[in-house]
Amino acid sequence: MGFCNSCGKPIGKKDYGTNEDGSPNMDYCIECFENGEFTEPDITLNEMIVRKSKEMMAKNPNLRETEATGITTGFLPNLKRWYKEPDYENEDLM
Ligand SMILES: [Zn+2]
Repeated sequence: MGFCNSCGKPIGKKDYGTNEDGSPNMDYCIECFENGEFTEPDITLNEMIVRKSKEMMAKNPNLRETEATGITTGFLPNLKRWYKEPDYENEDLM
C-alpha cells in the first residue's frame, strides 16, 4: 500500500487514481486524480495543508490546530505533486 502524492492519504488498490486510458495511477488517489487529470488542478499547497489539517482535527478532537498544521506542513510539501526541485539556474544569476 502506498499513499497519495497529492493529499497524503494512504491508498489501497481500490483507491488509486486513474490514467486517461483507465489504468490505475499509483501516485495519486482517486479523489485527487481521475482520467489522467487532477480533480482540482487549481488547488494550492497551502489550501491542501489547511484542508488536511481540518480533516485531521475532525478525526482527532484532541488534536490542536498547531499540531495538525505542524504535521501537514512537514509532510505535504515533500509529496511529488508539490515538491519543487531547487532552481539552480536562478541561483546562478544572483
Ligand atoms: Zn489524494
